[in-house]
Amino acid sequence: MNTSPAPSPPFPPASPYRGRLAPSPTGLLHLGHARTFWTAQERCRAAGGTLVLRNEDLDSTRYKMEFVDAMIEDLRWFGFEWQEGPDCGGGFGPYSQSERMRFYLDALEKLRAGGFIYPCTCSRKDIQAASRAPHANDDAEPIYPGTCRDKSPSTPNSQLSTRFAWRFRVPDGETIAFVDGNCGAQRFIAGKDFGDFVVWRQDDVPAYQLACAVDDAAMGITEVVRGADLLLSTARQLLLHRALGWMPPVFFHCELLRDENGVRLAKRHDALSLRALRGAGRTPEELRAAWR
Ligand code: GLU
Repeated sequence: MNTSPAPSPPFPPASPYRGRLAPSPTGLLHLGHARTFWTAQERCRAAGGTLVLRNEDLDSTRYKMEFVDAMIEDLRWFGFEWQEGPDCGGGFGPYSQSERMRFYLDALEKLRAGGFIYPCTCSRKDIQAASRAPHANDDAEPIYPGTCRDKSPSTPNSQLSTRFAWRFRVPDGETIAFVDGNCGAQRFIAGKDFGDFVVWRQDDVPAYQLACAVDDAAMGITEVVRGADLLLSTARQLLLHRALGWMPPVFFHCELLRDENGVRLAKRHDALSLRALRGAGRTPEELRAAWR
């Protein structure tokens, strides 16, 4: 009798597979986005899954409506096909974050009731001046020095004199470990590699970390494929999933495309926007061939 263990199922094991493309309409999509999204689409197809397009339009100070239309048009031009999204609906909508406020408020209330978050009145400047360590590469958030952490948790919100954010209290010293489908084993130490992070901003907007964790859970996403610049965010989001009692998705972080100087592609690389490339007569097939 063959006693060797059964071959492990194709990664990821969760089924049925649900993947997502989650662009923020803060500028034109560029080749770097297309590459990561292409990987997401290919992994979803290989698993016979459903691909969701989520419009991450929460930050109304940075996003512009015209970019939402451009985003959808450019994605279609490049060859993306999603089965659920703001343009085609689906059973897990709405698919624009600006229309999902009740999901975020509900999660915020759960975090508050569970004692996972605290109000923070620090300004960005205060934090930069007092932060304990420089922030990690590719991660924009300095480590929070803990100024508001131990203020009376019973202070009613109405008695806080100024506007405040809600911050998640990370378990200092705990290692957050996960196995990334592309980058392998990852370990981040809470309080050292990242600190208490904002889940709800002072301007009354849910922060990316919360919105992302809530939506990935509520939309039944089984695998998150995104850029390697978000590895640390994954550690934060895993803490949110745990605090909220949810089963997290698995993760696959892609290497980021860089320009000829090694600088990571960003929306400021206008010439590499899908729109500019299309205008210059390039075809998606030719652009994809260059990745091989
Ligand atoms: N909207 C985010 C971005 O464009 C994507 C975040 C994610 O994939 O979790 O950077």
